[in-house]
Amino acid sequence: MSGDVVERIAAVRARITDAAAAAGRSPADITLIAVSKTHPPQAAQRVVDAGVVDLGENRVQELTAKLGEVQGARWHLVGQLQRNKVRDIVGRKILVHSVDRRRLADALSTRAQRHGGIQRVLVQVNVGDDPAKGGCRLDEVDDLVAYARDLPHLTVEGLMTIPPMPAPGEDPADAARGHFAELRRRRDALRERFPEVVHLSMGMSDDLEAAVAEGATMVRIGTAVFGPRGDGPWRKDLR
Ligand SMILES: *Cc1c(COP(=O)(O)O)cnc(C)c1O
Repeated sequence: MSGDVVERIAAVRARITDAAAAAGRSPADITLIAVSKTHPPQAAQRVVDAGVVDLGENRVQELTAKLGEVQGARWHLVGQLQRNKVRDIVGRKILVHSVDRRRLADALSTRAQRHGGIQRVLVQVNVGDDPAKGGCRLDEVDDLVAYARDLPHLTVEGLMTIPPMPAPGEDPADAARGHFAELRRRRDALRERFPEVVHLSMGMSDDLEAAVAEGATMVRIGTAVFGPRGDGPWRKDLR
């Protein structure tokens, strides 16, 4: 079992290295985030022990349940965040990838103030205008970043996107590439005004090469690291 994990991680790292080389980039500039959703803490721990210390979850409850059970991880919340769950996230050194509205940014900053710290976030952009995906619209992102970075206890370190599902028969990487390029153009423009906006969180198991080619600094990989997912959180009471 853990041998499989080590092999899968090596294969993912090789894909990142090859894609980086093809783009004339250094693989060191690309953080591999292993998305552990639906997998038990023991599986997440094996991945951390194999050297992938950045772990991502898309649900707050599943993240907070694993937080105490996995040693040595850096956590990323890659799924939607409701304002009533903000208190479960802030103060725990979690990078939130999914800020998509002012009220959520407000809530995060207010909570971070109580902890006397700074909450690090990415702004999620729905580049493909997919009703099934979270994120602000492309024409809202500049305003949202400018607003959020002005909040006293928030820092916006970059942008994140999840491209729409490819059409049947369409190659996922080809389908996603234009969306990744669009996110990069937005980031480039924002970075000229706000130098701290550096990260591009984009690319998953099926399209990481396209994301790296377009400048991803964080790729979020689930299946290719952990194998197939179960049908829900690993513990039924977290559903
Ligand atoms: C599940 C998930 C991933 C990983 O997806 P895979 O296709 O399994 O690599 C990446 N990002 C987000 C936001 C996710 O929810």
